[in-house]
Amino acid sequence: MKTLYLPQIKIGAFLSHLTNMGIVYAPHKKGDASFTFETVKSMKDVILDYPRTLNSIKKYFLPPKEQLMSFSMEDYSITQNELYKSEIIFFGVHSYDMQAVMKLDYNFSQGNPERNYLSRRENSTFIGISFTPDEYHFSRSVGITVEETDGFDLFLDRTNDGYNVTVLTDRGADLVNNQSYFMETATCEIPNQQFHNKIKYNYNRLPEVFDQVWNSPVWDQVAAKCVGCGTCNLVCPTCYCFNVDDEVDLDLKNGSRQRTWDGCMLNNFAAVAGGENFRKSLAERQRHRIYRKFKYITDVTGEPWCVGCGRCTAYCTADISIVDIVNRLSEEYEQNHLQKQSPHILHEFE
Ligand code: SF4
Ligand code: SF4
Repeated sequence: MKTLYLPQIKIGAFLSHLTNMGIVYAPHKKGDASFTFETVKSMKDVILDYPRTLNSIKKYFLPPKEQLMSFSMEDYSITQNELYKSEIIFFGVHSYDMQAVMKLDYNFSQGNPERNYLSRRENSTFIGISFTPDEYHFSRSVGITVEETDGFDLFLDRTNDGYNVTVLTDRGADLVNNQSYFMETATCEIPNQQFHNKIKYNYNRLPEVFDQVWNSPVWDQVAAKCVGCGTCNLVCPTCYCFNVDDEVDLDLKNGSRQRTWDGCMLNNFAAVAGGENFRKSLAERQRHRIYRKFKYITDVTGEPWCVGCGRCTAYCTADISIVDIVNRLSEEYEQNHLQKQSPHILHEFE
C-alpha cells in the first residue's frame, strides 16, 4: 500500500486527468442545503467537503426508472436492453456509501445474478474521501469507520492544505501513474473520527434484541408520527426494492417492461390481488423496515443492512430517528428480558 500527497491546488488537475479515463461522478451542491453526485463538467462545481448527498451513488447502478426490455406481439420477440459498458469513476465517496454498494453487490448476485446492476458495477472505480461525522451519521455503530477503505481503489484523507492519498488497488495505481503533482510521503495514519450519534448496543447483539421486540409498543408510537411518505426508503443506500410494469403502446402490438424503485413504507407495497394488503398499518410497515436493516438479512449474512448514513433521519418528513427507534427497542429489551435473566449484564456502550 503506497501513500502519496496531493496538494489542494492540484485537485483540479487530478480531476481533469480522471475525466480522460472515464465518466467521473462527484458531489455537487443542490439547492441551498443539499448535495448530489453529478457528472463532473467543471472542477469549480465539485464540493469535496459535504455531510452526505441526498441520494447515494446507488442511483447509477439501480436507476430510479429503467427499461428492462421491449417486446413485440407482431413477431413474438423480446429485445433486452444493452448492457452498460462505459468506464465510470466515483470521486469523493464516503466509507458508508462504499459499504452500501458492497451490500447491494451481495443482493444482486444471489440467486439469478441481475445483469443490469452487475454490468454497471463491473466497470466502476471508487475514490473515497474522509468526512466529519455530523449529528445524523452513526456508521461507527454498525461497524463502519470514517477511514474504512474496503472497496476503494484510492482513499483521500483531508489535511490542512491537501490530501494524503492511499493507493489501494492496481486500478488506483493506474489513476495516479505519471501524475507529477503527487508527492511520495511516508505511510500515514488516518486519525479516528468521533461520532456523536450512536446505537446503544453493539450491532452484533441487535438480532438478539429484535428476537424479543416484535410486539413492542414502540411500533405504534413511531407510526403515530409517521406519514407513510416512503422518503426513508427512497434515500436509503441499501434499500433495493423495485416494481416491474409492462407498458403497452397504443397499437397494442408493441411495448416495454420497466423497473421503478418501490419502498416498503408505501401503502401499496404489500398490496396483492383481491384487495388484500399484508402490511396495512404504518406500525407494521415501520417494523418491517427496521427488521430488514437489523434482523432479516443480518441473520443470513451476519451484518446489519444499515450503514449508518443517517439519511432516513435527516430527510424524514416527520423527524423520526432510526437511532432513536433502535435505542428505545434496546432499552425495552433490557428492561423486559435482560434484567430478569441476569442483573449483571450491562450495556455495551461504545
Ligand atoms: S420518511 Fe419518515 S414519515 Fe416518511 S415514511 Fe419514513 S419514517 Fe415515515
Ligand atoms: S436505514 Fe437509514 S441510516 Fe441506515 S443505511 Fe438506510 S438511510 Fe442510512
